Amino acid sequence: MDSPTIVSRGNLLRGKTIANGILEQVTKEACEIKSRGLVPFLMTIEVGKDPATEVYLESQRRVARKAGINYETISLSSNTSQERLLSIIASINRDKIINGLIVHMPLPAHIDNRSVQWSINPKKDVEGVTPHNIGRLVLGGEGLAPCTALAIVELIKSTGTDIRGREVTIVGYSDIVGKPAAIMLLKEEATVSICHYATYERGHLEQHVRDAEILVVAVGKPGLIKGEWIREGAIVIDAGINTVGGRLVGDVEYNSARDKASYITPVPGGVGVVTVAYLMRNTIEAMHWQLRA
Ligand code: NAP
Repeated sequence: MDSPTIVSRGNLLRGKTIANGILEQVTKEACEIKSRGLVPFLMTIEVGKDPATEVYLESQRRVARKAGINYETISLSSNTSQERLLSIIASINRDKIINGLIVHMPLPAHIDNRSVQWSINPKKDVEGVTPHNIGRLVLGGEGLAPCTALAIVELIKSTGTDIRGREVTIVGYSDIVGKPAAIMLLKEEATVSICHYATYERGHLEQHVRDAEILVVAVGKPGLIKGEWIREGAIVIDAGINTVGGRLVGDVEYNSARDKASYITPVPGGVGVVTVAYLMRNTIEAMHWQLRA
């Protein structure tokens, strides 16, 4: 990178410090809200049991309690119909006590993800998955942005790097991570390339990774990004979460990538912890938005 500061290689971008800063502010605001006789409330719904979701739910619950946010989970059986799920969401949308709602993915195959996510009241959509909130992200205005994308941008900013004009490559184009991260980084005036399965199939993925001054990966395939592809001094943000041999790993070959990167996020302990902190931040934002209405 052409930064005038010489940055040593392999610095770890741990999420904990950033997460603690966000949560300290959230806890203060939750306290202030409680002094007015109200309590922030985050509701989550899971349909069927998914081991990765269970881990995520437990960490959300722990962080919410610590921050002073009520947190509850509705666990539905895997054969719950789409109609029943939509009617539960509709009643949560109307419930003035509940400020935030997450419907955990994956849903069983007989349920259409988009119909479910798009039925959430945008003012309670703390994951930022509704057309309203994605639209606001693109066009501007009040809305709730996707937490993982917020975490990715915050981790990059924490390095002190000037993002403007940088070559950024994002691998993975999901509605919840890759797409919103691309939009946020465009807003920072980065030059953004977005890679997906077709990029890989055409054999162009390696070159896009080699070009990246800032690399963001959110695919869900361990070892997809080879360490030797990383540009000298690049910032590497690995949002992937995979279980290999009972251990959590990202999508980037960590050890060899660390030798070349200036900064790299560990998995676990990188993007994930900051994402959960932003979920709590968004719950408070959602509550403020509802109270203003
Ligand atoms: P997703 O919806 O399955 O999207 C995966 C994306 O990767 C798609 O855009 C897909 O391309 C692309 N892709 C698949 N194979 C590829 C390949 N060989 N080369 C290039 N691109 C490829 O997944 P997601 O929900 O975004 O999650 C991605 C990963 O991030 C998962 O490991 C998930 O667990 C993790 N995650 C982490 C957090 C966190 O807080 N740290 C939060 C959410 C997700 P197409 O669009 O062409 O199919």
